[in-house]
Amino acid sequence: MTATATAEKETLGFQTEAKQLLQLMIHSLYSNKEIFLRELVSNASDAADKLRFEAVKNGDLYEGDSELAIRVSFDKDAKTVTISDNGIGMSREDVISHLGTIAKSGTAQFLSSLSGDDKKDSQLIGQFGVGFYSSFIVADRVEVLTRKAGAPTSEGVHWECEGDAEFTVEAIEKADRGTTIILHLKDDAEDFADGFRLRSVIKKYSDHISLPVIMQKEAHGEPEEGKEPEAPEDETINTATALWTRSRSEVKDEEYQEFYKHVSNDYQDALTWSHNRVEGKLDYTSLLYLPKKAPFDLYNREGTRGVKLYVQRTFIMDEAEQFLPMYLRFVKGIVDSNDLSLNVSREILQKDPNIDAMRAALTKRVLDMLDKMAKKKPEEYAEFWKEFGEVLKEGPGEDFANKEKIAKLLRFATTHTDTETPDQSLENYVSRMQEGQEKIYYVAAENFNTAKNSPHLEVFRKKGIEVLLLSDRVDDWMMSHLREFDGKQLQDVARGSLDLGDLDTEEEKQAQEKINEELKGLVERSKAVLEEQVAEVRLTHRLTDSPACVVVGEDDMGAQMRRLMEQAGQAMPDVKPTFELNPEHPLVKKLDLEADEDRFADLVHILFDQATLSEGGHLDDPAAYVQRLNRLLLELSH
Ligand code: ADP
Ligand code: MG
Repeated sequence: MTATATAEKETLGFQTEAKQLLQLMIHSLYSNKEIFLRELVSNASDAADKLRFEAVKNGDLYEGDSELAIRVSFDKDAKTVTISDNGIGMSREDVISHLGTIAKSGTAQFLSSLSGDDKKDSQLIGQFGVGFYSSFIVADRVEVLTRKAGAPTSEGVHWECEGDAEFTVEAIEKADRGTTIILHLKDDAEDFADGFRLRSVIKKYSDHISLPVIMQKEAHGEPEEGKEPEAPEDETINTATALWTRSRSEVKDEEYQEFYKHVSNDYQDALTWSHNRVEGKLDYTSLLYLPKKAPFDLYNREGTRGVKLYVQRTFIMDEAEQFLPMYLRFVKGIVDSNDLSLNVSREILQKDPNIDAMRAALTKRVLDMLDKMAKKKPEEYAEFWKEFGEVLKEGPGEDFANKEKIAKLLRFATTHTDTETPDQSLENYVSRMQEGQEKIYYVAAENFNTAKNSPHLEVFRKKGIEVLLLSDRVDDWMMSHLREFDGKQLQDVARGSLDLGDLDTEEEKQAQEKINEELKGLVERSKAVLEEQVAEVRLTHRLTDSPACVVVGEDDMGAQMRRLMEQAGQAMPDVKPTFELNPEHPLVKKLDLEADEDRFADLVHILFDQATLSEGGHLDDPAAYVQRLNRLLLELSH
């Protein structure tokens, strides 16, 4: 025996999370057992895609056999189901890292997403890239025989596991490249060793797989007397043509949905899709889906994004990011180009001007799909918005060309309804604008309640002018790029001095000027007190119930954005706000009469700090605020 280190049978332990996962598969996922087949066929199909892709550069990898297929067979007596492919195969290292010790990033997330509801949990499997382990839903022993395409036949690998904490790997001789998976069925899953059952499961989940899934025809009845039993014939179970090459009218909705699950690893149906063939200068087919639910990694920098790229039906790459902008990263699907070369790489994609044209066209497709949904199926659109609205809000900043289109798709909470549900479009807002109103007003705060109760809204509420209530993290940033809609400027109500233009009557304006004159002294005294903290003190007419508020300068960064940057560790320049007093408020009137300068200073400080707090801001010196307030409270109790 020439036992090299790697030829020996080696027993290895699973990493903790993989172990937990196995236990779960074995003991708790009973409903929906049949999905194991979907997962294994899907892996076999991926393996074929990978081989086709590699073989573009190195045809030898086919080893003389380029007819890629998946075979499924069973043995009733031995109680086994076997799934074989002649795809890329795995080396020993591949086997150990993909099926063994190293849990993939998805594993931990999968475990933490478990609901305890066995039906739901089993559906999560594909989404988190832990499909292989679903073998253990039906098997108590799983064998994998595999050899990497192009490797010598002596480099076959035999992996075996009985669903406990360990697995073994051993070198074997394997003539055919690719992977064979043998499932030794558990007692309660023996019914899968049945041709009819397997065929129906394959039809149900794997019809769209573009390579043939083959089974042997079963002999019916006894062979005729005197005749040799015929050699069993092969039979292709699935449709086995790439779904997107078929015409729209030919493809059933269920087929589109199954295909969606395959490309997205999602377990739920897609919300909607758009399937298009483009001919002319560019020649390509696209099939783009909108998911129902946001994936767990939507906001991860390394999260999956982009579409699957095919060139003339040959799979080229996953996550081709060049075909859609970042703010549409939730879109799943495929693009199949007839113009690109099979050798295309990410670098080439980045430089190819045709890709820019495709990206523009695909972006438009998605935006049109959304627009159509928003108009025709507002409930579905609301569902979409809830999941992906915040991502779409990155659009105006990223995609200048489509700003107006994206703006129409945005939804907001507003003072019109005063509810947290963002269900109002800018078009709705504009249709309700008042006589003489030129701007679209909004307030941005850390959360809905702060926005809704912002003192800046008081005058707007009094005059019945609608204000958008923004509380998503991206809002300030988005607005800074959007700037206008339908020719109307978007105005932050907490920014700059309030100018309601024609919305104020002549009498109101005169009354305001009069009061400004009367309280000049108060403004000067307050300014002296707050010299260090504020850029300016002035009187305002935007308040009705609150005594004071703070506003930022027209060109300064909004408070929400500032906090965002600070949280991200950015050092922000000190920008002083403007402090505004409400001359109609009894507290302010009293303040004007306060002769004791110390007490006056205390009161001004308190008003300023309160104004900061009601914006959701932080005090520089909270202890000082508390002390001043307590001094006042003490006076009260005298
Ligand atoms: P995923 O398919 O999402 O990556 P799986 O748990 O289904 O997760 O599979 C894990 C990995 O094992 C695959 O990514 C692949 O590298 C490898 N693998 C599984 N089945 C096969 C196969 N039939 N041929 C080659 N590699 C395979
Ligand atoms: Mg898989």
